[in-house]
Amino acid sequence: MKAQPYFESWERVRRQFRDDYQFAMIVLFGALAAAVITGFVIFRLMIGHYFGAVVNLMIVTSVLLVLAYAIRSGRTQRAGRFFAVVVVIACIASTAMFGRTGILWGYVVLWINFLLTGRRFALVSNLILMTVLIIETSLFESILEGVTYIVTALLVTTFAYIFAERLARYQDQLQMLALQDPLTFAGNRRMMRRDLTAAVSANRRSGKRFTLILLDLDHFKRINDQFGHEVGDRALREFADLVREHIRTEDGFYRFGGEEFVLLLPDHGPASAGEVAESLHRRISNQLSYFGEAIRFSAGVAVLGGDEDWPAWITRADRAMYQAKHAGRDRIVLASDRHRPGADAITPKTERLRDADA
Ligand code: GH3
Ligand code: MG
Ligand code: MG
Repeated sequence: MKAQPYFESWERVRRQFRDDYQFAMIVLFGALAAAVITGFVIFRLMIGHYFGAVVNLMIVTSVLLVLAYAIRSGRTQRAGRFFAVVVVIACIASTAMFGRTGILWGYVVLWINFLLTGRRFALVSNLILMTVLIIETSLFESILEGVTYIVTALLVTTFAYIFAERLARYQDQLQMLALQDPLTFAGNRRMMRRDLTAAVSANRRSGKRFTLILLDLDHFKRINDQFGHEVGDRALREFADLVREHIRTEDGFYRFGGEEFVLLLPDHGPASAGEVAESLHRRISNQLSYFGEAIRFSAGVAVLGGDEDWPAWITRADRAMYQAKHAGRDRIVLASDRHRPGADAITPKTERLRDADA
């Protein structure tokens, strides 16, 4: 694999630190834990406790290795699991070495596991840690102290679990709010930008094919003008439902703005982009009508070119869409191949008796 330029990879880490909270926890906690435990290494060396210093140094090294793995690979989930395993083993080792003070570190570990990794993995790690500590009965001065440990450790684990579960739910809700259009529940422009960027990367990396369809409802203003904004809103919502019924789960569907939508179709098998778009047009256009006014649309279709970025891609689809409008609406136009300017072809018109409802 080609090495990423330094700046680009740093930019990726910075973005991941901002957007991926588990990654941020791994980096922050990793750096902090390494610094604090290094302090203990120095302290133990000063008091001549060399074996303890070596154990602490091994813990620091493991933490730094996980930290480096997280930053280099960006694989949050795996790095988080490594981290949980390291801190549980470190805590058990500390308890074995230094006795009761290790239990105090245990409380930090019980909590932090839920920030570093998934709920289920954290729960299992915590149960293992608690079991090992409780088996080592010599740690506790009395049965009451052992029972108190179990109860308090279970309480910490339970609350950390609930906290992590809530946090995950809020994150999902926030993500939906941030990426979805509230009227039609199609993806919004932010989601579209994210997905188009990913499509361009996948195309450059592996040559995967992507087709973009930009569609604009025909004479939509008439619906609003004649029947009011509320009917217009309902039409947009129902049109979006209709589109969702006719696309595959892997297809992206976004509201580009107003009454314009974008479809992102990954690999659509042997059918050409034009055929796929024609078929969608045939099945969707003219299926809804409001007080006799049918909802039809014009669309531009563009297959992603190898050296194209997403704004250029969408611009080609937009131009093709305008050609469809100028050619009389209710049709699709396939954008020219990026390397053959002027090769725009109007695909066979899906015949519509435009005045059928009149
Ligand atoms: P054309 O065939 O050329 O696309 O004609 P058009 O009337 O669809 O185009 P134009 O861009 O002039 O008008 C788009 C209209 O879409 C304007 C606005 O009233 C309506 N519209 C845009 N967003 C919304 C919305 O969220 N709700 C409703 N009800 N109407 C909307
Ligand atoms: Mg428009
Ligand atoms: Mg329109």
